[in-house]
Amino acid sequence: MPELPEVETIVRGLVKQVVGDRIESVWIGEKKNLLKSPAREIVSVLEHSVITGVRREGKHIVFELGGAGEWIVHLGMTGRLLIALKRTALARHTHLIATLRSRRELRYVDPRRLGRLSVTRSVFAAEGFEPLEIGLDLFHGLFRGRRTPVKSALLNQKLLRGVGNIYADEALFRAGIRPRRRASRITRDQFSRLYEAVREVLREAIEAGGSSVSNYVNADGEEGFFQLRHRVYQRTGDPCFVCKSPIKRVVLVGRGTHYCPNCQK
Ligand SMILES: [Zn+2]
Repeated sequence: MPELPEVETIVRGLVKQVVGDRIESVWIGEKKNLLKSPAREIVSVLEHSVITGVRREGKHIVFELGGAGEWIVHLGMTGRLLIALKRTALARHTHLIATLRSRRELRYVDPRRLGRLSVTRSVFAAEGFEPLEIGLDLFHGLFRGRRTPVKSALLNQKLLRGVGNIYADEALFRAGIRPRRRASRITRDQFSRLYEAVREVLREAIEAGGSSVSNYVNADGEEGFFQLRHRVYQRTGDPCFVCKSPIKRVVLVGRGTHYCPNCQK
């Protein structure tokens, strides 16, 4: 599933490609379970509107449509936005096509259909705080006292938005904290380390263009490279880069969780 760095990379690509373009018409396929707004509402907000900006809110991609409203895309597990010339063959599982004045098409493709498409006539705001904008005190305030494992707190989108499984594991490794530790048992110093680690990992991943796991590609059709820098994620049994202990994998709140049993306490 694309997380904050992947979505940020996609948004940066889209900004270059579609801002200033106008949506002339919209086609929506038969499979309606992706739609979180009625199809006719999506068509009515998108058609004839100019894309004045694209921004990221957590893991959501938000197309700003001038006064018409906003189009919100959540990619789910396998969603992709493609920009294609009209004559380019349609990929299987294409569920929406927005035809642009520039004679290109913005296409939403999603084999597993776990993404979400919606519109609002006002301004969309996602729940939770942006990890790259939040200050240390607020970060500490969000997590301290929580009895859940620190990793589940990191994944809770109502607290921080955009941090998912990969970056939670990587940040906890860098901070030297075991994923299962209860947030309430983490010291203020460790929280400072975690705060820095979350931001560092996200920034590095954005610079690398995200992590190419499963079939993620950015809006330019390029893969990201942060997976080459993963220190624990999906390295089960491989030696820790710091202490050479084999990386362990456990399942925590239903998610594969990777850590070094020696470096993380
Ligand atoms: Zn280690």
